[in-house]
Amino acid sequence: MRIFDPHIHMTSRTTDDYARMAAAGVRAVVEPAFWLGQPRTNPGSFTDYFDSLIGWEPYRAGQFGIVHHATIALNPKEANDPRCRPVLDLLPRYLDKDRVVAVGEIGYDSMTPDEDDAFERQLALALEYDLPALVHTPHRDKAHGTRRTLEVVAASGLAPERVAVDHLNEVTADIVRDSGCWMGFSIYPETKMSPPRMVEILRRHGLDRMLVNSAADWGISDPLLTLETGRAMLAAGFTDDDVDRVLWRNPVEFYRQSGRLDLTAIGSTERTFAGSSIKRGGS
Ligand SMILES: [Zn+2]
Repeated sequence: MRIFDPHIHMTSRTTDDYARMAAAGVRAVVEPAFWLGQPRTNPGSFTDYFDSLIGWEPYRAGQFGIVHHATIALNPKEANDPRCRPVLDLLPRYLDKDRVVAVGEIGYDSMTPDEDDAFERQLALALEYDLPALVHTPHRDKAHGTRRTLEVVAASGLAPERVAVDHLNEVTADIVRDSGCWMGFSIYPETKMSPPRMVEILRRHGLDRMLVNSAADWGISDPLLTLETGRAMLAAGFTDDDVDRVLWRNPVEFYRQSGRLDLTAIGSTERTFAGSSIKRGGS
């Protein structure tokens, strides 16, 4: 099984996780910029974080033969903090970078006017920089938030096939399905979406425009839940080709729209970083 995790926060994970992921078949990841738990108090905290998402983290992933790309944005939660909003003006310099394959995560947390403004401005940036958009849906008031999200996306002028609406469940999948947007599902160990529930959703809606991710971060999460979902699909009668489509070809197709997805280094553990070369595994 080859796996592309289209939404995972590796900054929060250890090298043990990278090793387990590589052993499980994870060959590529996309790490969206998001909030870090502790509120940030100035734009410099964001630029250091963004730099690490396109510099240090791809290097770490590369040590395990995993290719790492990022999405960059001011996240919805911190869009409410006046100390963080100037980050919106710093985004263009990152949206030009080779390893940045989408604008994200953008969208709603509490659906405030400041979130409206940041969401609309960043969808406009996706249009301007010819990038797809990765959209987070709120964990509270989810159905309303998802409908509102789709209205704002439709008004932005961004083509729906260039937008992934993430963190969906049974209810919100029904809402997003006919919009033409991609449907993202974050699989969690204890709450929200589980592998068996995901299999039911795939049965109901088919495999088209479906993205499955582990969203693993600093909370209770598991970077191998993509693998578990693939296994649950096989146990439920889906074919190896079906699993490959959901866990590999779909995320490749979505992020390839950026024109920047570069998977040539998969499996290579030799990387050059800051002038020094490291090699692992003796191959
Ligand atoms: Zn996330």
